[in-house]
This record gives sequence, C-alpha cells and structure tokens, in this order.
Amino acid sequence: MMTTPPMIFKVALPVPLYRLFDYLAPEGVNLDMIKPGVRLEVPFGKGKKTAFLIEISTHSDLSIDKLKPVLRILDDKSLLSAKELRLLQWASHYYHHPLGEVISTAFPTALRQGKALAVKAEKRYTLTELGQTTDSNTLKRSPKQQSVFDKFQSSAHYLSDTDLSAWNNNWRTAVNELITKGLIKAELTETKPSNPKAIIRNTPLTCNPQQQQAIDRVYNSLGQFGVFLLEGVTGSGKTEVYLQIIQAVLERGQQVLILVPEITLTPQLEERFKQRFAVSIALSHSKLTDKQRQISWLQMQQGACSIMLGTRSALFTPLKKPGLIILDEEHDTSFKQQEGFRFSARDIAVVRAKLLHIPVILGSATPSLESLYNVEKQRYQLLHLPERAGSAIAPHVYLMDIRNKRIQDGLSEALVTEMHKTLAKKEQVLLFLNRRGFAPTLICHSCGWVARCQRCDANMVIHYDDAQLKCHHCGQEHTLLRQCPACKTGELTPLGLGTERVEKTLANLFKDKISVRLDRDSTQRKGTLENYLNQINSGQVDIILGTQMLAKGHHFPNVTLVAILDVDSGLFSIDFHAAEKLAQMIVQVSGRAGRAEKPGQVILQTRQPEHPLLVTLIKQGYRQFAATALQERKTAALPPFSYQALLRVQAVDTDKPQQFFEALTGLIAKHNHGLTQILGPVSAPMAKRAGLYRFQLLFQNPKRQELHALLDTLIPAISLLKQAKKIRWSLDVDPVDLY
Ligand code: ADP
Ligand code: ZN
Ligand code: ZN
Repeated sequence: MMTTPPMIFKVALPVPLYRLFDYLAPEGVNLDMIKPGVRLEVPFGKGKKTAFLIEISTHSDLSIDKLKPVLRILDDKSLLSAKELRLLQWASHYYHHPLGEVISTAFPTALRQGKALAVKAEKRYTLTELGQTTDSNTLKRSPKQQSVFDKFQSSAHYLSDTDLSAWNNNWRTAVNELITKGLIKAELTETKPSNPKAIIRNTPLTCNPQQQQAIDRVYNSLGQFGVFLLEGVTGSGKTEVYLQIIQAVLERGQQVLILVPEITLTPQLEERFKQRFAVSIALSHSKLTDKQRQISWLQMQQGACSIMLGTRSALFTPLKKPGLIILDEEHDTSFKQQEGFRFSARDIAVVRAKLLHIPVILGSATPSLESLYNVEKQRYQLLHLPERAGSAIAPHVYLMDIRNKRIQDGLSEALVTEMHKTLAKKEQVLLFLNRRGFAPTLICHSCGWVARCQRCDANMVIHYDDAQLKCHHCGQEHTLLRQCPACKTGELTPLGLGTERVEKTLANLFKDKISVRLDRDSTQRKGTLENYLNQINSGQVDIILGTQMLAKGHHFPNVTLVAILDVDSGLFSIDFHAAEKLAQMIVQVSGRAGRAEKPGQVILQTRQPEHPLLVTLIKQGYRQFAATALQERKTAALPPFSYQALLRVQAVDTDKPQQFFEALTGLIAKHNHGLTQILGPVSAPMAKRAGLYRFQLLFQNPKRQELHALLDTLIPAISLLKQAKKIRWSLDVDPVDLY
C-alpha cells in the first residue's frame, strides 16, 4: 500500500514571533484549490487564531505527530492577490516585523478575526431586460422561483441581500436559478462605470502649461512603473493634476488609491472628487466604523469601486485593477507609523507601484529631503508647478523681530496692528501655534516647584477649560492645583503659551470679532471640525487659531494674514530632522494665506531674525533651504546619505535594559563585522515615559544592504535572548523621529 506524505500548511500568525508555524492540512481538502493568502482557523495555545497560509509543503522541522491540524479553511479564494501577498512579505522583511502581524494589518478588523466575508451586504439584484418582460407564469412549475420573481417584478428598484433576507429566509437558491436563467442580475452595491462618459460630473479646468505637462508625463506612464514627485506650492493646482490623471485611469477601467496624511483632509478632498466624478468613493480612515472600513475594503478588493481615499493604513487595501497610487503631502511624517508595525506608507507605496507596474505620484509643496535626493539620483521624476494656478498670487512672507518688543500672550503689538487692518477689510486672520492647552508649565512663583508628570520625564500642561493638568505623553490627568504642594504658600503661575491661552487673549483684544480654536482638544467630538471648517468658509469666523491641524491642505480663500506665533521653539531640537520639519511647517502654514484673488501676507514672529535656516527659507525659498540642508546631511553622513534603524528599549527599571544591552553587545560583536556604525545605547531624549525608562541604540550604515544584512541576522537572535523577555523592545527602520 502506498502512503502519501502528510501535507503541511506553513502559516503566518499574528503573534510577535519571527517565524512561520506548521499545521497539518485538513483532511480531504483539494490542495490545488488552496492558494497562499487564504485565511485559516488554527488551534494556538489554549485558543484559536486566524492564520494566513503562506506555503504548502511536505516537510516540517517538527515531527509530524506533534503537528495539529488546521481547524477550518475560511476563504475559498485568497482575498489578497499574489502580488499583494508578496508586498506584505517584502514589508515584513524590510521592517523586520513578524509576517503574521504585517498581513493582519492589511485586513479589516472583522476579517482579521476570522469572520466570514460579508459580501452579503454588498450584493444588489435587479431584473434583467429579459426579466422585465417575462411573464412570471412561465415559472409556475417552480413556485419558489416564481414567488421570488414576483417579488422583483413588484419592486420599484433593486433588492439587496438584506432586503431579500428580511422578506424570506430562503431566497438564495431561487435567486441563483433566476440568475442562471438570465432573468435577474447581481451587482455589487456600487458598480464600476463601463461608460467613460459616466465618469465625469463636472468638466475639468483648462490647465496651465505646467499642469498639462505634469498630466501628460504621468499619462504616458500609465501601465508601467514610475515615481513622480509633483512639487508645487499650495494653490499651484496639484489637486487639479490629480483629478485629471485619475480621470484617465478611470477611463482605462482601473482603480486609484489616494493617501492623505490626516483624516481631517479627507472631507475636503472627497468633496472635490465628488464634484468632479460621478463614481462613488470608498473611504478608509480611523474615524469610520470597522464595518464601514470593511465595506470600503471589499469594494476595492472586488473592483466595485474605483477610487479609495484614505490615510496611511489604507495603503494595503487590495485592488482588483490597480492603476495609480497618489500620496498627497508626501513629506508628512504621519505617513510613518510610529508604533507596532513601523512602516513608511510612502516607501511601501513606491514598492507596491513597482510590483504592480503602475505609476505613483508623490505630491507636496515641500518635498521631503529623501524625495528630492531621489530626484537628484534620477530615481524619481520631478513634475514642477512653480506658480499658483488661477489668479492667486504668492503671499509675502517676512520675519518679525520681536526682541525687546511688547508682547501679550504671544501676540506682539505690531502683529495685533496688522490683524486689525486685515479684519477691517473683512478678511480673515489665521494664527498658528503648535501647542495645545493653556500653558506648557505650571510653576510656583515663590519656591520654583514645577508640576511634573509622575510617570514621564515631562511637565504637566495646564488646561484651564477642563480645570486640569494633563500630560501630553501618557495622558495622565490631575485636577488643577490652586496652591503649591511644595511650599503650601506660593502662587502658581502658568509659564509659556498654548492655544487656549491665546484664545482667551484674542477674546479680550478683539471683543467684537469671532475666533475659533482648532486643535485636538477643541475638535474631539465627531463633526466639530467639519462644523468649524464650514463656519470659517462661510465667513462667520474672523480669526482662526490652531495647531498643526491647520497646516495641512485646508483651503480658506478669505484668509489673507497668517502668523506663526512662535517659530523659535522649532529651531533648537536635537533631532536632525527638526530643521526640515520646521521649514516644511512654515511653508505649509504660509500656504494658507491668500489662496484666492486676494494677496496674502505671512508674519513669522521670532527672536532669531538672523537664523540661517529662517533667512535662507524666506529669502531664497524652500528649494534652496532643502539644497543647503541636504548638503549638511551629506557632510554629516546622515540620511538620505546613510540608512538608519533605531532599536528602542523600555522597562520599569534601568537594570534590565542594561543587562539586555550587555547581551546585545555580544550579539553585535558576533554579527556586525564592523561594517555598521553602532551609536549608543543611550537614554532616550525623553528618558521616562508612562512609567517606563527608555533607551535607544542607533544602527547606521551608508549602505542599505549592509545595514539590512546585519539586521537580518541580529533581529531574530535578539528575539531569542532571555534578557529580551524582561524588557520591551522594538525596531524602527528608517526612523523619522529619534525620540
Ligand atoms: P493645490 O492642490 O496645489 O493646493 P489646487 O488644485 O487645489 O492646488 O488648486 C488651487 C486653486 O486653483 C483651486 O481653487 C483650483 O480650482 C484652482 N485651479 C487649479 N488649476 C487651475 C487652472 N488650470 N485654472 C484655473 N484655476 C485653477
Ligand atoms: Zn511653592
Ligand atoms: Zn506622563
């Protein structure tokens, strides 16, 4: 008798382990039908988990009788294409993050938990032309079908799964038979328009020559890989360029994935898309319910929807017919996930486009130094929109020296004067301050005591509105103190400036004007931000005050004066990325001024009016700033002239990290061969956070392959160290924030 060897499923599980797991294939399963990517239910520990099939093999390193069988195969077909799976495998490898966790992030929550595919809510059934003219009596030999058919003929419009189930529990077979007979057709909720004329709702604008050139270049690259850096100041018409290229992609019957850094940007962009296109738009961001996200995900996966607009995590949405990926505001560090699976959506978007042979557009008024460097290296193609589109003219930007000037809660007299002038013309003012709360420090006037967070190496921030002290790092809250807990007599004074404080000052200085404050605290409730944005755009608001929330993408046509209250605090960071981020922020915020016909002005309040960064930026522009900054990075051998990975360690005490680093030093000595520079271990810039002590160690190498070759052997070895079990550690490849 012949014995066939048992088949082994090698699966990825969403657990923090750097390996695949072996299970026995379920009995009697047709292996030809089962493809990698299929979800499985497997026993794991005392429970069950959803796993993803990676490989079918006859070999296991474990003895066969130790292996447990797969409990259930959850999908008939993989929900991910082979290329999508390959992308996730690449990402797992590159970011040194366990494959099961990486694949898991690509799925909506319910599917990740092993729930059945809910296409159910998605199908719509309608009568075909034949169905509309067929007499139901021709079906009288199968009463079931006839009754279902009658139901359709008496309905004014389509019937969905839900409608039919509500009507009769047992309709599915009959409907399928009617479909076979050509009397009924099934469609997904939103169908892809087959007729190109049906794509456009409103005619595109006539482009200026630069826009047209940008469109043509990408257009000629459709169907093949290419990375385009679309550089254009705010208002230069980048969005219009996107819209016209998207149109071309839709006409080819393909899908477009558009990523933006912030949820708050989606409504505005969605609105412009809806005005332009008659097709539906799938959204994907964290403010949606799991159910809504899953529907969007499936619509893209099945090709029922052609446009997806989302934030970072939408990047992994499967696409039935991928045609184009767009990343707007590509320089934004929100595209880098800062916890768990620490990936860069920008970098993976490029890899994905390459795998799919499609173009990717990275858009920004202030491209990242990495992308500019890639243009220089001719890896990316530059599309430049040097001027504002339409009639808007560039704002006038100047440095306002506030040394020795009278200043009230961050507002210099000269600025207040300019604000009055602007408001008198019935135009709007926008003030930017990137710090929420009332003041960042509460200090005792007599003994110097400062309200510190007990769990972090940080001060508590005063929030008068809630009468609380809050830690912005761990979320710790404390009722606002009235008396100094140290000397019991001293008067407690707020030190420094937050948006709440400026808001109160504005109310005093501009009594007859309406101000709104836009920051994370004031816009927490759902819909608040949209409300504020509507009020601003309908002219009910005179002064807009806010944090970085304002810096991104919003279009306020009537704002003609923009002021950045405190540029100086950004000038002295120890992180080498800080200069780039500050310059981008200044340009982005400046871009909010004078977007329509009215000219705008931008005021930067500073005590460093001769600072080279500010002077270069204001006098010579972002491009010159970037060239200088890149030169500095080159001299210092910093990214993009080298590659980094940051190992972070946290623990409740400082001994365990020390023991860990001792063990790690041994491992590094064994694997490194001196090629990769090792900096540290040192205390993190914020040495304690949420009760944990923090340390870090930086790997740096001018050659990416060498760095990754080291990480390839080191990371699995670290995960096996017994000292690693007593601490929390993580690896951040290409870190954008060294904190
Ligand atoms: P960006 O995305 O670069 O900020 P937008 O595409 O939003 O720029 O364009 C800014 C403004 O200029 C919008 O109001 C847009 O309708 C308008 N605009 C863009 N392109 C043109 C054009 N070719 N002709 C006239 N107006 C244009
Ligand atoms: Zn005191
Ligand atoms: Zn804290």
